Amino acid sequence: MRSTMQDFPLTVRSIVAHGVSVHGDHGARTVIAPGQVSRATYAEIGARAARLAGALRRLGIVGDQRVATFQWSNQQHLEAYAAVPAMGAVLHTLNIRLAAEQVAYIANHAEDQVIIVDDSLIPLLAGALPKIDSVHTVLVNGDGDAFALEDAGKQILRYEEVLAAEPEEFDWPAVDERDAASMCYTSGTTGNPKGVVYSHRSLWLHSQAACTAQGFSINADDTILTIVPMFHANAWGLPYAALMSGANLLLPGPFLQAQTPVGTIDQERPTVSGAVPTIWNDILNHLRNNPGPDLSSLRLVLCGGSAVPRSLMEAFDKEFGVRILHAWGMTETSPLAAIARPPAGLDEEEMMRFRVTQGRPIAGVDLRIVDDNGIELPADGKSIGELEVRGPWVTGGYYRDDDPEKFHDGWLRTGDIGRVDPLHYVTLTDRTKDVIKSGGEWISSVELENTIIGHPDVLQAAVIGVPDERWQERPLAVVVLRDGASVTAEELRTWLTGRVAKWWLPENWSFVDAVPLTATGKYDKKVLRRQHADQLLTVQTI
Ligand code: ADP
Repeated sequence: MRSTMQDFPLTVRSIVAHGVSVHGDHGARTVIAPGQVSRATYAEIGARAARLAGALRRLGIVGDQRVATFQWSNQQHLEAYAAVPAMGAVLHTLNIRLAAEQVAYIANHAEDQVIIVDDSLIPLLAGALPKIDSVHTVLVNGDGDAFALEDAGKQILRYEEVLAAEPEEFDWPAVDERDAASMCYTSGTTGNPKGVVYSHRSLWLHSQAACTAQGFSINADDTILTIVPMFHANAWGLPYAALMSGANLLLPGPFLQAQTPVGTIDQERPTVSGAVPTIWNDILNHLRNNPGPDLSSLRLVLCGGSAVPRSLMEAFDKEFGVRILHAWGMTETSPLAAIARPPAGLDEEEMMRFRVTQGRPIAGVDLRIVDDNGIELPADGKSIGELEVRGPWVTGGYYRDDDPEKFHDGWLRTGDIGRVDPLHYVTLTDRTKDVIKSGGEWISSVELENTIIGHPDVLQAAVIGVPDERWQERPLAVVVLRDGASVTAEELRTWLTGRVAKWWLPENWSFVDAVPLTATGKYDKKVLRRQHADQLLTVQTI
């Protein structure tokens, strides 16, 4: 028996149409200078999105052609989010933090036709543009000098000028919910970046999951400060979730150094924000050195992308009364897949046991762990294996890139290693490429890092495995100390004793000014391993 329900497609257009009509008086604020924001309602953004779609059509964008963005998080980027998928084309958010070679590789691979660039990012795009054969037009957002783009042989137009020439209505086409809406490349920490292509349906379902109370619980009373950039996994889905729920957006533009987000929170009073742990750690450090700004508007701070140390959560709890909610996901999972909301009825200490995990799967996502032979392991909180995931917003392949190794029986192999407890909370201990194998046993680099960073003098800690004659590999702790701190390797090792297993205690230590970060703000262990192999790190062995 078939249902009697209407077969109504789940599309980005329907998300945007809802936001700009039902919540048309809500909108987005963009930080345009420290302490200064520009404002636009969703109704205005909807009208400008129609103009943008008209302009792109006029520039020859048809069918599922790709329109790329090379932008910070700002109103114009949101307009591209609203216009490009809704006109049936595919939005490709380029990561501005990648090297020019990688940007060119990705844009050519996706066959981007048009790139929208913020004027402040022109110098970065200029290195890549001459190598991007598929692009014929660049739309420059802002009045900054575009001279550096001129030699690339592309048509260079001003975003505002092309929008001004178009009407505020667009004949939005009907699109199939299973068609591509947007794409995002993984940062390619191993091999070339891989393209993940989101469908209208997957974005719709993911946005709704983000709005649920068990998800990010976003609603029309919220104002969301998206510190996680709009070029990183769709800013964790927050822009579409905001349009779907009517939440206001607060877009930080290029101002991501701790001082400005703190000022923005103090002044603009967002209720929700999301960023990777390194950013919240910087914010914590900044506030400890410069107390005063008020963070109390935040009811929820979303944090993921790498493991959130317990010490960071406790500091936010105690020092600012702000709750960090730990989530796990990947570009491949749109990204929200698991979220660490503790079970009901627990006290603070018991809740913390669950809050530090990577969380439970959100409805729609299945998670399991498997052994080396792909056999499912029990959710007993002890067995450790590779995490596999499947669901309606989990990718089933990569764009023009066969990688059967990444898939197993309809599940995506995440490359993350961990355990699942009987309540389905997942705890990740490592990524397959980062595990440290010492004397045949695994040492969790993540657990070591999160413990070391709990020391009051430590600002950052990354742990990698380095070759060892006797044990095959041993941990090397690469540490950044807080300003003015002088703790020694011996003292840190003594402090760690009793907090981790004795045979985990690193004998190799290196003190550096900063740990290198990837394009998505994680410790770049590939670079650290290379630096160590090239003897560029000063290592103290105790
Ligand atoms: P990239 O791998 O390109 O940096 P992704 O955002 O797709 O970007 O990274 C996904 C990976 O990030 C996951 O496979 C996992 O290793 C890591 N990750 C994400 N969230 C968490 C978390 N809460 N705890 C630990 N690791 C996480």
